[in-house]
Amino acid sequence: TQDMQGNVCVVTGAARGLGRCISETLAQAGANRVYACDIDMTPAENWLREYDNVTAVTLNVCDKTALARLNERIYSEQRRLDVLVNNAGITRDALLGSMTEADWNSVLEVNLKGVFLTTQAMLPLMQQHQSGSIISISSIVGTDGNIGQSNYAASKGGIIAMTKGWAKELARGGANIRANCIAPGFINTEMTQAVPQKVLDKLTARIPLGHLGEPADIAQGVLFLASERARYITGQVLKIDGGLVL
Ligand code: NAD
Repeated sequence: TQDMQGNVCVVTGAARGLGRCISETLAQAGANRVYACDIDMTPAENWLREYDNVTAVTLNVCDKTALARLNERIYSEQRRLDVLVNNAGITRDALLGSMTEADWNSVLEVNLKGVFLTTQAMLPLMQQHQSGSIISISSIVGTDGNIGQSNYAASKGGIIAMTKGWAKELARGGANIRANCIAPGFINTEMTQAVPQKVLDKLTARIPLGHLGEPADIAQGVLFLASERARYITGQVLKIDGGLVL
């Protein structure tokens, strides 16, 4: 499909994993330009070479100065932004009794405040032409919780609540700015490779479709929500989890 033709996109946490796949999918769908942003873009050196419509940006989603610079750059290069994918995220898992305040703070800082700051910085580029699609990557942990992830669950649940507010706030005055979340289940990436095999096996047994998801399964959901095909969808959470949470 060429669903992204004419569109300018920003993806955070884009160097590897889901963010990489999302960036590639938007680029392959004909996006005019994808700004692929990550705190560390070095893992992206190889795949970036395959695209002439992807620009690498080293950016920490918690750094307001860097975000303001990105806004200025996109304004001067494109005059607009159509799609923002808030994908950057981290985990610092521990059971409630042993989770440190530092674990809590760093996860909330990147996963929740980072989404707030990035969206705030990019919004004027959408408001300018009164349209856009904001897609934030939450998690089924943000809707249903998980053992050892108090910080992560709170951050991902916060993203959902914030998104529903944005769906209302950003559509005022006839603006066509939509905001949605994707809640992935367990997807095959570096993040889940850190999970012990024994835990993964147990988990897989609980997934109706019988296997972990692939990054492309998430990227196709992002492409849909980003495109005109989803023009009447806002404030929603799309679970992509092989039926795990039912
Ligand atoms: P990953 O760890 O492979 O990739 C995350 C990327 O984000 C990395 O490249 C990292 O450098 C970048 N990043 C981290 N902190 C950053 C910051 N402050 N600023 C900018 N970039 C930063 O993870 P993934 O599996 O690809 O996950 C991507 C998103 O999907 C995350 O938000 C994660 O919580 C969510 N998610 C993943 C799964 C899964 O099963 N993999 C499930 C549910 C939700």
